Amino acid sequence: MEQATGIKHRITGLLESALAKKGTVLYVLQHYAGMYELRIHLPDARMENWQKVQRIKCKVNTGRYRDYTPAVWDETTRSCSLFIDTAHDGPGSQWAQSLQAGDPLVYIGIDSYGRAPVDAAEQVFLGDPSAIGHFFALMQLTNGLGKITGSIIVRNEMHREAFEASFPSLSISTAESIREIEHSPVLIHDHPERQFYLAGNSGMVHQLRKILKQQGVPAHKIHAQGFWK
Ligand SMILES: Cc1cc2nc3c(=O)[nH]c(=O)nc-3n(C[C@H](O)[C@H](O)[C@H](O)COP(=O)(O)OP(=O)(O)OC[C@H]3O[C@@H](n4cnc5c(N)ncnc54)[C@H](O)[C@@H]3O)c2cc1C
Repeated sequence: MEQATGIKHRITGLLESALAKKGTVLYVLQHYAGMYELRIHLPDARMENWQKVQRIKCKVNTGRYRDYTPAVWDETTRSCSLFIDTAHDGPGSQWAQSLQAGDPLVYIGIDSYGRAPVDAAEQVFLGDPSAIGHFFALMQLTNGLGKITGSIIVRNEMHREAFEASFPSLSISTAESIREIEHSPVLIHDHPERQFYLAGNSGMVHQLRKILKQQGVPAHKIHAQGFWK
């Protein structure tokens, strides 16, 4: 068993030395308990080519990697932000909470995921706090075109208030549960050009997609990304 773990670590180490790229943490902002923004400099990233939402695979511990969504990127300075929800215990949370300005960051690749966003009269964002970066990235890719509505499920009441105060530019509301969203006007499919973007916990995304389909939203108008189980 120990031998197998040792071999796994050696293979991971070899892969990492072949693929690893480096960045630097410029600053860390804690928006509210559990929500961290890492502003990072990535000298090798070709941000001018980002036409879809991207994922960056960060090394969070020895042999451990986690995907995060670069947002609010600036091609000129090659910097972007990662919005990391750390309101649970895991290697990714521990890593984000430990970082300080000036720390190095190791990653083994950046690539796109999901479909390119569609310019539409109205974009509806539904998710949990781990999806904030995803929604900021969609806003940047669509140049802020189209009205943005939606809701983020934040179970902790104090965090709900803090969330709305922290991200006024996202201009979407918070909800306590899927049930609350299900009965809110946000889901009423009354605009033919509405596009729905779902992201965050896989079970939540699955349920929201099911509710939308039951309400008659065609599949091609639902963009769903499960992030974690
Ligand atoms: C394409 C892609 C993009 C992603 N982008 C982001 C992003 O921008 N920001 C972000 O925060 N995450 C993002 N994630 C999720 C991220 O990769 C990790 O899965 C997540 O941060 C958990 O890692 P961890 O090591 O902290 O916890 P893990 O060790 O993976 O999980 C520990 C426990 O915590 C639970 N858990 C995991 N995440 C959460 C959460 N957010 N809230 C409550 N409980 C949780 C798990 O179910 C598990 O029980 C993305 C994932 C994918 C696939």
